[in-house]
Amino acid sequence: MSIDTYISQEDIAKRVKELGQQISKDYEGEELVVVGVLNGCFLFMADLIREIKIPVYVEFMKASSYGDSTTSSGKVDIQLDIKQDIAGRNVLVVEDIVDTGLTISGVCNDFTARNPKSLKVCSLLFKPARLENEVQIDYLAFEIEDKFVIGYGLDYAGKYRELPYIGIYNED
Ligand code: 5GP
Repeated sequence: MSIDTYISQEDIAKRVKELGQQISKDYEGEELVVVGVLNGCFLFMADLIREIKIPVYVEFMKASSYGDSTTSSGKVDIQLDIKQDIAGRNVLVVEDIVDTGLTISGVCNDFTARNPKSLKVCSLLFKPARLENEVQIDYLAFEIEDKFVIGYGLDYAGKYRELPYIGIYNED
C-alpha cells in the first residue's frame, strides 16, 4: 500500500485562506452559523473558521444518506443534530467532499425546512464524475478527479484522517 500526495498542505492552506476571505467579505456586517458535517469536515472546519473574520457560531452534525438516489431523493438520516435554532439566521454547511451529492442535498433539504435567513454550502472537495443529485456548492476549495482520496479529515476504513495533506490511496 502507498499514498501519493494529491493536494499539498501548502496548497490547502492557501485555498482555505482564500475561501475564508471570500466568506468574510460576502457576509460582512452579519453573523454566521457554520455547521460542519462530521466526521470528515473536522480539520477543514477548524482551519476555515480561523480564516473567517466575522462572528461565527460553530456547530456540528452527523448525517448519512440512504445511499440509493432512486428511492431516497435527498433524504438523510440525522444521527447527531445541531443544538441551535437556525430560523432567520445565516447558515453555512461545511462538507469534506461532495461525491454523489446525496448527503449534502439531504442536509440542505432538512435545513431549508427550518427557515434560515440564508443557506449556503462550502465543500473542501467536489468529484463531479459521480454526482447524482444536482447540488449548489457556493464555496469550493478543489474540484478533483474520480479517485478515492484520504487525509485532511478523510478516512480509509477509519484511518488516515490525521494526514496534513490530501492523498490518493493505492492498494498495491
Ligand atoms: P456523497 O456521496 O453523499 O456526496 O458523499 C458521502 C460521503 O462519502 C462523504 O462525506 C465522504 O465521507 C465519503 N466519500 C466520498 N468520496 C470519498 C473519497 O474519495 N474519500 C473518502 N475518504 N471519503 C469519500
